[in-house]
Amino acid sequence: MTTLDDLPIRDDLRGLKPYGAPQLDVPVRLNTNENSYPVPEPVVEAIGKALAAELRDLNRYPDRDAVALRADLAGYLGHGLTVEQVWAANGSNEIQQQLLQAFGGPGRTALGFTPAYSMHPLLALGTGTGWIPAARGVDFGLTADEAVAQVRAHRPDVVFLCSPNNPTGTALDPAVVAAVLAEAPGMVIVDEAYAEFARPGTVSALAVLPGHPRLVVTRTMSKAFGFAGGRLGYLAADPAVVAAVQLVRLPYHLSALTQAAARAALAHRDALLGTVTAIMQQRDRIVAELRARGHRVADSDANFVLFEVGGEQSTAWRTLLDAGVLVRDVGLPGWLRVTAGTPAETDAFLTAMEKLS
Ligand code: PMP
Repeated sequence: MTTLDDLPIRDDLRGLKPYGAPQLDVPVRLNTNENSYPVPEPVVEAIGKALAAELRDLNRYPDRDAVALRADLAGYLGHGLTVEQVWAANGSNEIQQQLLQAFGGPGRTALGFTPAYSMHPLLALGTGTGWIPAARGVDFGLTADEAVAQVRAHRPDVVFLCSPNNPTGTALDPAVVAAVLAEAPGMVIVDEAYAEFARPGTVSALAVLPGHPRLVVTRTMSKAFGFAGGRLGYLAADPAVVAAVQLVRLPYHLSALTQAAARAALAHRDALLGTVTAIMQQRDRIVAELRARGHRVADSDANFVLFEVGGEQSTAWRTLLDAGVLVRDVGLPGWLRVTAGTPAETDAFLTAMEKLS
């Protein structure tokens, strides 16, 4: 049998395993920060109609520039953004890959403050971009001084900021974004996949876009919109950034079906985003309950919670799985991450947690 090692694969890919959380068939799946609520029936119908309207024309390529969808996304984001400042792709993973293809690549570097989203270094690897793992401070925080010192030391071509940060959950102080923008010699990407779940008082980097052509804010419909299976991510930036990613995107990367489904979902955003408040309540309930039980817990502005288990995290992960609850071991010694879903899922998780002590 031929194995990967027998193939003339790139040296830097040799011995690697594909990225991905376990997709296990267990009663309570709280490991990938999806929205636990199914798509509401009226939205199912609207998306179905929108898809049906596309079917006869599937002999033709879709709108390569996805103009109507980008206009809808700009309208959703507000901040006076226009279609020229928004770009869309198959998930924010693809958006970030395109950004690295355009602004990273061989001979260039990208820097991120770990622990952060584990796909950032993998996207760097796939695009031949050197990865610089910079560090967060105490309690997984990041101050402007800590961030600036590391950007100054490495002068990366691309800086990743993640706010709210995955896996810790906490949003960045806007002063950190401003300070990094002032110091960074290249592009600054603020990954705001979880922005809709942020606690009141949190500021999106969208507000900082005017006058900052090297700033890119990435968003997704996978989390708050409950549209992970639809695969739709997007960015907001200066029109010149949109022009840059168009140099590397595959022609017709967004299928006609994806564009139509996403537009129908956006048209029903009130119904889809209607779950956000309920999810935030479960998130706050998990934080409060785990703290009351004596666990250390990171502040969360997202739809997940990072908590200390008090022991080896892989053992705790297995104990919770045996109790029917799948959470995420992100490889942080002593810590696990749980997604906030429905009240019943929180009940199951909190009950399973009693098995740890
Ligand atoms: N950014 C962050 C911080 C994430 O946690 C995720 C999903 N886990 C993504 C981006 C990618 O999401 P998608 O490709 O589904 O938009």
